Amino acid sequence: MTQISFEFYPPKNDQQRAQLDRTAERLKAHDPEYVSCTFGAGGSTLRYTPETVRRLHQEHGFVAAPHLSCVGGTREEIHDLLQLYRAIGCNRLVALRGDMPSGMGQIGEMRYASELVEFIREATGDHFRIEVGCYPETHPQADDALADIRWFKAKVDAGADAAITQYFYNADAYFHFVDAARAAGIEVPIVPGIMPISNFSQLRRFSQSCGAEIPRWISKRMMALGDDVDAIREFGADVVAAMCRRLLDGGAPGLHIYTLNMARPTQAILSRL
Ligand code: FAD
Repeated sequence: MTQISFEFYPPKNDQQRAQLDRTAERLKAHDPEYVSCTFGAGGSTLRYTPETVRRLHQEHGFVAAPHLSCVGGTREEIHDLLQLYRAIGCNRLVALRGDMPSGMGQIGEMRYASELVEFIREATGDHFRIEVGCYPETHPQADDALADIRWFKAKVDAGADAAITQYFYNADAYFHFVDAARAAGIEVPIVPGIMPISNFSQLRRFSQSCGAEIPRWISKRMMALGDDVDAIREFGADVVAAMCRRLLDGGAPGLHIYTLNMARPTQAILSRL
């Protein structure tokens, strides 16, 4: 059976909390291996991820994996979070560098995710299964595609157990990336990150900043559909489900779905598989 995981973001008010509760209950039927919760660096946002992870684990009964990023944080803060996650009952984490919001503060004590992975292993040994991020279409700040793979390997060498990719809409990019990673000696599972298409203009903006390419034929078709929300959802689900089928048939070890805290777009993809 295909291993599925779902990613949520931490709600910040009661309305968002109620939405996440409804989504979590609906997606439970798909029996995910685990669910993860994103993390925003700095300030008051620090507390939302632990709060949400506790809720997902203790109230909804999921295996819950917090994302943890190192930009803007100190070793002591990260150490405290690790202890908190242990106390909540977590035994897996997604370790990332993170991105500082522009104009906000300093880089922090660690510059790259590989240093964070090393720190987690030093502080907590093998307690956590650690996933890291990787980029089939190359991280936007990487010197080049091969350098990016070398730095990916540094995270695995530091102790990562598996990787989740940035989203993409081109299965060939994933297959070539996996081949290049294997050639570079990276042996851990590389799980494709899947972004459902629901709000196309929002997705287009976000894709520009994170370096994910939306193929021209998809963009053109989406733009032609204009404000027809149902048609956009149907077309988006057909395209993404077909890509997931190709990925799984081609050997992808599972799917990690970026739910954006909504059940319907994820269910539309899974029901087509
Ligand atoms: P790194 O692996 O540190 O790489 C960052 C860049 O530096 C790359 O270009 C790499 O090639 C380069 N690099 C790495 N090491 C070195 C080195 N030693 N010397 C020179 N260059 C180097 N962001 C959040 O803020 N919160 C989240 O919850 C979150 N969740 C995510 C989940 C997934 C699955 C993914 C794929 C991304 C997520 N992100 C999240 C976004 C992520 O933080 C950004 O993509 C960030 O810009 C890079 O993070 P990283 O862990 O891949 O960084």
